[in-house]
Amino acid sequence: MAAAMTQKACVAGVAVKAAAPSARRQARFVAVRVSALAQKAEYIWYDGQEGQPQKGAVFNEMRSKTKVLQKPVTSMHPKDFPEWSFDGSSTGQAEGNNSDCILRPVCVVPDPIRGGDNVLVMCDVLDAQGAPHESNTRAKLEAIINDTVKAEAPLFGFEQEYTMLSKGGHIFGWPSGGYPAPQGPFYCGVGHESVYGRPLAEAHLDACVKAGLIISGINAEVMPGQWEFQIGPTGPLETGDQVMIARWLLHRLGEEYGIVATFAPKPVKGDWNGTGAHTNYSTKSMREDGGMKAIEAAIERLSKCHPEHISQYGTGNEDRLTGKHETCDINTFRYGVADRGSSIRIPLPVQLAGKGYLEDRRPAANVDPYTVVRLLIKNTLL
Ligand code: ADP
Ligand code: MN
Ligand code: MN
Ligand code: MN
Ligand code: MN
Repeated sequence: MAAAMTQKACVAGVAVKAAAPSARRQARFVAVRVSALAQKAEYIWYDGQEGQPQKGAVFNEMRSKTKVLQKPVTSMHPKDFPEWSFDGSSTGQAEGNNSDCILRPVCVVPDPIRGGDNVLVMCDVLDAQGAPHESNTRAKLEAIINDTVKAEAPLFGFEQEYTMLSKGGHIFGWPSGGYPAPQGPFYCGVGHESVYGRPLAEAHLDACVKAGLIISGINAEVMPGQWEFQIGPTGPLETGDQVMIARWLLHRLGEEYGIVATFAPKPVKGDWNGTGAHTNYSTKSMREDGGMKAIEAAIERLSKCHPEHISQYGTGNEDRLTGKHETCDINTFRYGVADRGSSIRIPLPVQLAGKGYLEDRRPAANVDPYTVVRLLIKNTLL
């Protein structure tokens, strides 16, 4: 934001210099010019459709439209941004005869693409009566955050895997009509032979950092053309909001690079890794000395509600959780230390320290992050 202000001040400064006003007058002139510029606010929302490939095409799950605010909002507080509406019948969120849905700003960050004072405004969706829309999983999460939950200060690290495609569905960088070398050299790989699409992954990382998201890293994944970024550690609502903004940025930057990002759980059938969203989770009790007890207690509770989690951990996840490519089969619940073939993994450093966090390996890449977070809180803390 500061850099953008300077840039604008310079533009205005040229005109001021010609008139040779006093320094104080110049400063006032610049101040007026800056606040007189309209602000572009990109209102972003989740359509609740989990990015399912339909009829051979990939439709993503994020939507957005631009609101020009003639009088810029100077705070980054979502409550200071106006509510807006959209045609829900065009996003699968309403019937045509009663189609207005309301966008309620919930999280505002600097827009790393437009720069300047422009912002991205993550919204949740309300129905025409102002009640949370049925696709509004954020509101469902917010509703369970009580004092018990707050006292345990839950944190999440969301590993968002995705696969890059060319328009039309071909895996980006794969030979046309064929396959690359078998999996092995690609995970965290380097070099033209092994890594496809890094310019987009890098641009996306830059954009997330510029937007102020708490992104903890990126890596090339096991299947060539498959990547991962990690959001976290972040609190419950923050995790959902930041994953959604990061997903939107990925799709948006893909427009510039001619790359489609898909969160489909099994983009290529056969001996190719699926695409997941491992969710790392800790509470205050787990992070404190002797926290392993709390980690084990949480896993014990999670073992009793495996079907409830699986039913909401993304669509098409059965094609990914076969038991053949990391993570056990969809009907089995298993946990283990450093076991990447389990449903829940306790990372080795956590075992060694006797405290830390657990990793739920079950969610598919197209899962709704608000839902994963809600289920983990509900079934371990409440
Ligand atoms: P993996 O080894 O499974 O690939 P990653 O490094 O990709 O793991 O992701 C681990 C995630 O867990 C990161 O987003 C990190 O910020 C997050 N994380 C680290 N510590 C905690 C914690 N105490 N609670 C929740 N998440 C955590
Ligand atoms: Mn990872
Ligand atoms: Mn991964
Ligand atoms: Mn993986
Ligand atoms: Mn992982």
